[in-house]
Formats: sequence, structure tokens, C-alpha cells
Amino acid sequence: MQTLEKSQQLFQRACNVLPGGVNSPVRAFKSVGGDPVFFNSGSGAHLYDVDGNRYIDYVGSWGPLILGYSHPAVVEAIRDEAARATSFGAPTEIEIQLAELVVEMVPSIEMVRMVNSGTEATMSAIRLARGYTGKNKIIKFSGCYHGHGDSFLIQAGSGAMTLGVPNSPGVTPSSASDTLIAPFNNIEAVKQLITEHDDIAAVILEPIAGNMGLVPPENGFLESLREVSTANNILLIFDEVMTGFRVARGGAQELYGIMPDLTTLGKIIGGGLPVGAYGGKKEVMEAVAPLGPVYQAGTLSGNPLAMRAGYETLKLINQPGFYEELEKKSNQLSEGIRQNLDRLSMSLYQTRVGSMSCLFFNPDKVMDYETASKSNTENFSRYFKKMLSLGIYLAPSQFEAGFMSAAHSSADIEETVAANYQALKSVFE
Ligand code: PLP
Repeated sequence: MQTLEKSQQLFQRACNVLPGGVNSPVRAFKSVGGDPVFFNSGSGAHLYDVDGNRYIDYVGSWGPLILGYSHPAVVEAIRDEAARATSFGAPTEIEIQLAELVVEMVPSIEMVRMVNSGTEATMSAIRLARGYTGKNKIIKFSGCYHGHGDSFLIQAGSGAMTLGVPNSPGVTPSSASDTLIAPFNNIEAVKQLITEHDDIAAVILEPIAGNMGLVPPENGFLESLREVSTANNILLIFDEVMTGFRVARGGAQELYGIMPDLTTLGKIIGGGLPVGAYGGKKEVMEAVAPLGPVYQAGTLSGNPLAMRAGYETLKLINQPGFYEELEKKSNQLSEGIRQNLDRLSMSLYQTRVGSMSCLFFNPDKVMDYETASKSNTENFSRYFKKMLSLGIYLAPSQFEAGFMSAAHSSADIEETVAANYQALKSVFE
């Protein structure tokens, strides 16, 4: 068992000056108990904490680090850019280079606006959808997380699900009333809402839900959403902040062959620096200021360091064979866990799409918020702690996806599978 003395001291210090000791809620380990680990450095698939412990990591900064920590080409690019200027607040060529690469890689995007986070991307995308259609309401799905914008903190996943506060104080009743909720994977509920309300500007969803654990779309669900949106003059928004450049080069829309009207991006697009983006058909994007009337701006938007980190990352993942290799690694891990479950005669529901995966402490199929909520979070918490003590760093919540990176070696995965066997055994002993 490793010592976490310095982490604990830092957490106590942090709690005096940061709410809950953290700058984002799930980091506080509230749902699994205990104090969070404070990190010092990362290299490839490995993380090193302030007490000198090493971990094999499956968080990847919650998704961005698909190349692993401190990829030399990305680090060098950031150094090079920083030596020239950390920010201009004026146009630079690297913004065009990254935008051109995004347009090339993501099938439905013809034009894109860079912002600084996934939250900013989704907030801006629904403003654009409202401005473009002249309508006010949006449909979102319970358990889908789209960042912390007021309109989205209604039956949200991720931290809001983990902490058991699906609705945040401070969200006004009028914002909440403009957000209509349907269960994920339930097309009939969406049709019902559309029949009842004629003021719907957009349907927004994570095409593969990654903030209530990992819940893939059922066959036909995305197709039906596309059809019903088109038929009712509603924009379909895929929030690909997590799935973009992750499940395939062109994200979930490429994987399932469904073209949304707008796409939001984040995480990988910044290569570990703060970047978000929203984009789509030219006709819709041309409504954004200064070309059109829908206002949206940012002092640090298109920041050269962040653009360069994103550009280097996308160039590397755009190489032939990248996703095939990542698929092999991801399959090695999920197969290893499946075999462990068999050997231990345990029935837990496993999901995986490409390099995103989840092990639900739930024997039954998970397909929406309701079924995800039935998972045994106490058992997850015991599993999480045992894995941590064995040097495997997982997201500290049942309701998060795990991420494989290109830097994980076969030996890392074998070590993880061996730890998984021990941890599962200890949870159910
Ligand atoms: N959308 C999805 C699907 C996400 O997973 C997240 C963050 O996890 C966001 C939006 C918000 O992004 P950010 O945390 O960069 O604001």
C-alpha cells in the first residue's frame, strides 16, 4: 500500500482556499471517499504523484490526452509557440491550420469557431441554434452532461450525477423551463415532446453518452433523431466534446454515419490545453458574429499555445493506423476484464466503444440514466480504492468513462488486468 501523506497535506491546505479543495467537483473523490491524489508529473501512460507513487492512468485528464502525458512533439510545439508569444488576441495562421484540420476530419463540419472549453462550446451552440431557428426550447437527455451552462444543469450526468444534485441552485426556473428532458435511447419520448411543444430549437445529446458511465446509442436511435429533427425544423446537435477524435477520427458521427447540424468539440482538440469549438454547416455557422447576428466572443479564443497543442495532437492521430492500434489496446483490456469476470463467475455489465469503456457494478444492461443509477456505487468505491492501491488510476466515480491512450503498452494493460482480477475478488469477498 502506497503512502499518500503529501497528497493529504496538500488537500488540507487546498481546502482553506479552494471550495472543496478542488477546481472541479469530481476531483474531490466525494463519491468514492478518501482524499484526492495530487500529481506531480506524467509521462506516456504513467502518472507520478507528489509522494512518488506511480500509476497506470485511464483518466487522461478526463479525455484530452489520447497520446498520453507529455508527448514530446506536443511539448516541443508548446515551447516553440510560447517563445514567440503566449497570446495576441489577434488573428494567427495556426488558428486557420487547426480549423482546416477539424473541417477535414469531422464529416459534418464546414466552418468552426474556437472557444476555450467544452462548456463554452455547448452554451454557444444552443445560442446559435436559438438565433438561427428563432425558437427557444431545447431537448436534452437525462444523464447527458454538456458542461455547467444553466440550460444543461437539469438531470445532468458526470459530477452532478455523482454528487446526487441533478439540479443546481442558481439555475433560474425560466432557464430550466426552456430545457425539456427525455430518457436517453428513447425516441418515443422525444417524439412526444415535439408533439407537445412547437418552440423547439435544438435536440442536443452526447451521441455516445460518456457521463453516466459509458452508454452507447441503441441501433437506430441516432438515425431516428436525425429524421425527426429534420422533419420538425429542429437542429440536431452532437456534443462530441468527449467522443470527438476519440471513438474515430471524425468522432461518433463518422462511426455511426449520422450528420448533425452542429457539433461541439473539446478535450482532444486542445491536446491538453484549454480549447473547445463548435461548428457545422456553413449556412448555420454564418449566423455567428461578426458575419451574422448571433454574438459570441473570447479574449483568449484561438490562443496560439492552445491551437498549436491541438494541431500537433490532431496531426498525430490523423496518421494511418492510429485508431486501429488504439482499438487493439482497448480490446486487450476489455477482453482481459471479461475473462476475469468469467473466472470469478461474476456478472457485471461492461461497455466499450473504441478507447472509451466502463465497468458497471450492475449485472443488468445499462441503456439510460435510470438503469445506470441502479449501479452499486459502494462496490465501485471499494473497487476504485483497491485499484488505486495497486497503482491503477481510474476516474473516481462509477459514472465516468475510462480512456485508453496510444501510450499504453501491452505490459501496462496486462498489469491492469491482473490488478482488476485482485480488485474484483477483494470487492466481493
Ligand atoms: N460536453 C461533454 C460531453 C463533456 O464530457 C464535457 C466535460 O466533461 C463538457 C461538455 C464540458 O466540457 P468542459 O469541462 O471543457 O467545460
